[in-house]
Amino acid sequence: MTFVIGKECIDAQDHACVDVCPVDCIYEGARKNYINPNECIDCGACEIVCPEVAIFPSRKIRGDEERQQFTTDNAEFFTVRLAGLDEPLGDPGGAQQHGPVAADTPLASGWPEK
Ligand code: SF4
Ligand code: SF4
Repeated sequence: MTFVIGKECIDAQDHACVDVCPVDCIYEGARKNYINPNECIDCGACEIVCPEVAIFPSRKIRGDEERQQFTTDNAEFFTVRLAGLDEPLGDPGGAQQHGPVAADTPLASGWPEK
């Protein structure tokens, strides 16, 4: 189980989630943030503070195709080579130390502007 950031974060990044994550596993993309599923400890702190209600636990997908899509997409942010990067991000072990990633997944980068 992990927590996932959905479409509501696109073009609404305020980083409230980043500030409360105890293991620093929420990474900043160009248009939205992404939770590393291998680093998340499932504490739920980020879900509560998100003003866009963008964060949900993956166990609550319940046949919601869009949530399933973003769950897969969150994971792919770390496993697929993103446009402009030489290799996949992998599991860097800390978002603050890594710094912002000037890229998004194809799903997020192609999402219509708000
Ligand atoms: S559930 Fe907890 S560990 Fe996982 S991303 Fe949110 S704040 Fe970080
Ligand atoms: S708190 Fe919500 S809207 Fe803000 S960056 Fe995190 S996921 Fe995106």
